[in-house]
Amino acid sequence: MKQLDRAGAFDESSFASLKEEISEYVAGPAEVWARRIEAERRVPAELWEELRRRGYLSLAAPAVYGGRGIPFTRYLELVELFSMSHASIRMIVHVVNGTWRAMDRFATPEQRARFVAPSVKGEIKIAFTLTEPTAGTGADLRCSVVRENDTYYLSGEKHLITFGTICDYWLLFARVAGTRGAQGTVALLVDRHAPGATVVAMDESMGVRGTDHARLVFDRAPVPVANRLGIEGEGLDVALGGFLTPSRISVAMSCVGLARRAHELAVEYAKKRETFGKKLAQRQAIRFMIAENATDIEAARQLVLHAAREWEAGSPAAAMLSSMSKLQAVDMLTRVTDKALQIHGGVGFWQPNAIERVYRDARAQRFEEGTNEIQKTVIARELLPAGGDA
Ligand SMILES: Cc1cc2nc3c(=O)[nH]c(=O)nc-3n(C[C@H](O)[C@H](O)[C@H](O)COP(=O)(O)OP(=O)(O)OC[C@H]3O[C@@H](n4cnc5c(N)ncnc54)[C@H](O)[C@@H]3O)c2cc1C
Repeated sequence: MKQLDRAGAFDESSFASLKEEISEYVAGPAEVWARRIEAERRVPAELWEELRRRGYLSLAAPAVYGGRGIPFTRYLELVELFSMSHASIRMIVHVVNGTWRAMDRFATPEQRARFVAPSVKGEIKIAFTLTEPTAGTGADLRCSVVRENDTYYLSGEKHLITFGTICDYWLLFARVAGTRGAQGTVALLVDRHAPGATVVAMDESMGVRGTDHARLVFDRAPVPVANRLGIEGEGLDVALGGFLTPSRISVAMSCVGLARRAHELAVEYAKKRETFGKKLAQRQAIRFMIAENATDIEAARQLVLHAAREWEAGSPAAAMLSSMSKLQAVDMLTRVTDKALQIHGGVGFWQPNAIERVYRDARAQRFEEGTNEIQKTVIARELLPAGGDA
């Protein structure tokens, strides 16, 4: 594994060769995995192992945890490349390279040794477990714990949880029974095999095929108090605090990467396909769609990078910019994939045409790290505090 930041300095030439290596991986072996995932409808364990061995799961974490310590803005260049691949590959890379951030800020040294470093090294899998079937995402959560001595007893339901069946721990957000809002929320590392936890694999999804998602039911599942990150009342800070901004920016860059792949496929197709004696690439209607897509992608990329630089600089505007970049990038992805599919004509609607999969995978991005409605709510809250009353 190349070490980019062991000495604290960023080495441009080893980063350039890492980018080249990842580009080749995405265009070559990752496409072979993609075909296998689509055919088998599951992500083979060997793929996880390959990504771990290649060091792709420890790109963003600091060297002290066994990561490569790539600065966030530069790491996003790699996210863009991985996002041109199968959505399940992008999902693994994005999640594992990000989850340590949520835990790290609140973990004790002992918890860092038990959870953070092993997660970065790919020795354990941790599933981010927030969404509930009977509550809104965030302060509305209903999963609750009752404390008895050194143990919490967890009851309630979660769903749509990525890696929820195959993980070792759920990084789960609940509340102390009887509390409301953000007050009394807790972040817990819950053992996947805790008694009282029922795990059901969810049915097949429209896109991001092969990635497992779980529905979870807890009935007084015991969780050691020692597995709580932070204190009671800090649960939502772990879930949404300093972690959410970089994660949203990373999802926004994932939209840029997937849109770039759609654009690439549309350009290739337009150069090949001939109708009425001319290539599609010679038709103004098609050339305009391609020009619009390229412009749309570049504009989103620059906003995402701006948000990332502001976050790295500790700017107070970073949270709002992360929502703006996610909103902009996901709408861009919707437009770009729609036009890219249109350029393919009817065959694009059928498998195994690559654009068919890209189009389906793109739809999932509208939910990850918050919907457009939630991003707009966050932006408006910054612009119009307290409802904007004069
Ligand atoms: C592929 C995929 C993977 C996922 N992985 C995970 C995971 O690993 N862990 C996890 O915890 N979750 C995961 N999720 C869940 C995801 O985070 C949620 O789907 C998303 O946050 C939306 O929440 P919801 O589904 O509960 O929608 P709801 O909250 O039920 O919202 C339904 C609709 O109403 C709108 N809406 C809701 N509340 C408001 C409001 N207050 N004002 C205006 N509009 C509103 C929403 O924008 C949406 O359009 C995943 C989802 C998908 C699709």
